[in-house]
Amino acid sequence: MIKTRFAPSPTGYLHIGGARTALFCWAYAKKHGGTFILRIEDTDRERSTRESVMAILESMAWLGLDYEGPHSQMDRLARYRLVAEQLIKKDQAYYCYASREELDALRGQQRARGEKPRYDGRWRPESAKRLGLKPPPGAQPVVRFRNPDHGEVTFRDLVKGPITVANGEMDDLVLLRGDGIPTYNFGVVVDDIDMAITHVIRGDDHVNNTPRQVNIYRALGATLPQFAHVPMILGADGERLSKRHGAVSVLQYRDDGYLPEALVNCLARLGWSHGDEEMFSRGQLVEWFDLEHISQSPARFDPGKAAWLNAQYLKSADDGRLAALAEPFLAKNGCDTKRGPPLARVAGLLKERVNTVEELADAAVYFYRPLEPSDDLKRQHYSPDVKPALVDLKEQLSKAEWTRERISEAIKAVVAAHQLKMPKIAMPLRVMVSGVAQTPSVDAVLELIGRDEVLARMERQLQAFPK
Ligand code: GLU
Repeated sequence: MIKTRFAPSPTGYLHIGGARTALFCWAYAKKHGGTFILRIEDTDRERSTRESVMAILESMAWLGLDYEGPHSQMDRLARYRLVAEQLIKKDQAYYCYASREELDALRGQQRARGEKPRYDGRWRPESAKRLGLKPPPGAQPVVRFRNPDHGEVTFRDLVKGPITVANGEMDDLVLLRGDGIPTYNFGVVVDDIDMAITHVIRGDDHVNNTPRQVNIYRALGATLPQFAHVPMILGADGERLSKRHGAVSVLQYRDDGYLPEALVNCLARLGWSHGDEEMFSRGQLVEWFDLEHISQSPARFDPGKAAWLNAQYLKSADDGRLAALAEPFLAKNGCDTKRGPPLARVAGLLKERVNTVEELADAAVYFYRPLEPSDDLKRQHYSPDVKPALVDLKEQLSKAEWTRERISEAIKAVVAAHQLKMPKIAMPLRVMVSGVAQTPSVDAVLELIGRDEVLARMERQLQAFPK
């Protein structure tokens, strides 16, 4: 059975890159009817925070990525200790008592000789014996892995192809720190073995760690999983994606009024493709997803494309759902949406014209409270020669049956009677009622705002016309 995992370190919000990895792992497991595990790698005690764990869980829920777990590495310390002891028993790991000062000095000497700094294996049992080293009393040793001295490590990466590294390039890495907390390379291997992970899909910033991990698998006599290292994500300018490029946190997209299905679609296209398909559902992603079409070169994240995709998804989103999403934005904007037209109808009218739910909410404000037009708009559209027609229109509207069709007829009748062109009336009318120059069809806007409110706004704005 296929088993994948996403293993974030809870040291900040879940960003676009992490979410893309999670999505690939999730999609691969779903496609094969397998299991997707969420594992929180919280062993960095200084940088891990509870808020960050919550942000990860919230992001996963919002994106709709369901998982088994979450498992937490800090709950598994006894297990890492046990596995480390097994390795010590087999002479594949050993206690190292070297102090920080000692190791710093060693590195200094190596650099001075122009060598690459590396641990010299002095606490390997045979060296310690030869050097006459004795454990200092009370010291908390670390456990180091006895990396093979000779030969090389090879694995076939499903994205990058075969990768070979000489064992001579690697030193004896720390498996357990003095406080019993595992290092990343050890924790990840023990967990991936215990959780029977078949496919390790992760960012290629980890590809250099993999040979070390492969050696640990071998020492433990475990079968290697398949590895797929996914290329990193760059900003539109070709630099590594960072805050400079705008929103990079998943929850920021939610808070800015993106739909999760739009972000999922956008993430899926970061380094993976299915022909020329740009827009596809979560279901199609699961059906199509494979590791063969993960690109070898870095992906570029284009916020403009994310906004475009979001606009497409908004157009077909359910009006009631959009209303529920827009409501908090409107409340923040001083609008009581219970007093005024049903927000779902307003959303239905506006959703064709916006990129985000936030923009939709911004565009909906005048349905719930009058907006004073700018002086510029008044100057442009409030001309004395159209005032009589608007007074007439107000009169007609006070009598018309309040439907979009009848409102439209009343406007047309006034336009004809006063021998004007449609925009000469429609523009000032729009500005008077909505306070802005761009709205959906003015008859639809008037219908939703309601007769009393429309007449009151017209009355007030007619006072602002020059004599
Ligand atoms: N905790 C690691 C990270 O967040 C996980 C890497 C892995 O998937 O092995 O980068």
